[in-house]
Amino acid sequence: MKIQYLGTAAAEAVPAFFCACPHCEYARAVGGKEVRTRCGAIVDDTIKLDFPPDTLLHMFLYGLNFNYLEHLLITHSHEDHFCWNDIAYRREGFSHPAADAAPLNIYGDQVVVDKIKELNIDGLVPHLMVPFVPTKVGEYTVTALKAVHMIGSSEQPLFYLIEKDGQSLLYAHDTDEFPQEDIDFLANKHIGLISLDCTNAVKHYDYVGHMDIWDNLAMRKKLLANGAADEKTIFVANHFSHNGLAPYEELEKAGDGMLISYDGMEVEF
Ligand SMILES: [Zn+2]
Ligand SMILES: [Zn+2]
Ligand SMILES: [Zn+2]
Repeated sequence: MKIQYLGTAAAEAVPAFFCACPHCEYARAVGGKEVRTRCGAIVDDTIKLDFPPDTLLHMFLYGLNFNYLEHLLITHSHEDHFCWNDIAYRREGFSHPAADAAPLNIYGDQVVVDKIKELNIDGLVPHLMVPFVPTKVGEYTVTALKAVHMIGSSEQPLFYLIEKDGQSLLYAHDTDEFPQEDIDFLANKHIGLISLDCTNAVKHYDYVGHMDIWDNLAMRKKLLANGAADEKTIFVANHFSHNGLAPYEELEKAGDGMLISYDGMEVEF
C-alpha cells in the first residue's frame, strides 16, 4: 500500500493567511517542509482522503488527474476536509466528464451525505458510512470509526480503516484520543500504517477534539498494547496547526520514532 500526503495542515494552513506568529514567520522564511497546505491524502493513487480547499493546488503540484477518480472518503464536514463547493464543479458545464468516466462515489457521515444529495449532481453518488460496519470500496474494505471531534455538534465525525489483501492503513484525522470502542474494534489488526491527528504538535491545550505529539505517543502505546499495531507499524503524525508547531527537526525529536508528515510525503509499506 502507498499513501501520499498532499496537504498536512489544519484549517488555516501554515503559514496562515494573516498570521504574524513566530512559527508562520519562520515557515515563510524557510519554506520547504515548513509550508503546509490543508489536509488531504491519496491511497494507491486510487482512494482520495478528504477534499480540502487546496485540492486544486494538490492536483497541479503532484500531477493528479481526477477524471477517473471513483472513491472519495470524507472524514467530516469541516471545510478544510470537505470543500463541497469545489466538488460541485463536477456539474456539467463546469466540467465535461469523460464519456467513459465512472461516477465519483463519496463516502461520509450523515452531514456529508445530505450535502451531496442536496447538490444533486449527476456523477456524484453519496454513501453513508456507519461506524464499525466494513464496506466495500472498489477493491478495498473500508471501516469507519468514531472520531472524538466536533464536540457539541449533532454530527458524528469519522475516521477510516482501509484494508486490502492483508495490508491496512488507519487515517485518523481529525480526532482526539480514540474512544474505547474504537480501540477495541482495532485490537489485533496489526495495522501497517497509522496516521494520527497532531494538530497541537508540541503545545498542550486543554480542549477535546485534537491531539498533540504526547497524545500521539500515548495512543501509540495503547494501540501497541492491544495488537492494533506491532513493531512493524509505521506511525505518522499529521494535520498540524501553526499554534503548536515547532521546526520540523524539533518535531521529529519529540515524535520519538514517529514519522512527521510534510506536504508531498509518500510512504510505502
Ligand atoms: Zn481539520
Ligand atoms: Zn501563525
Ligand atoms: Zn475538523
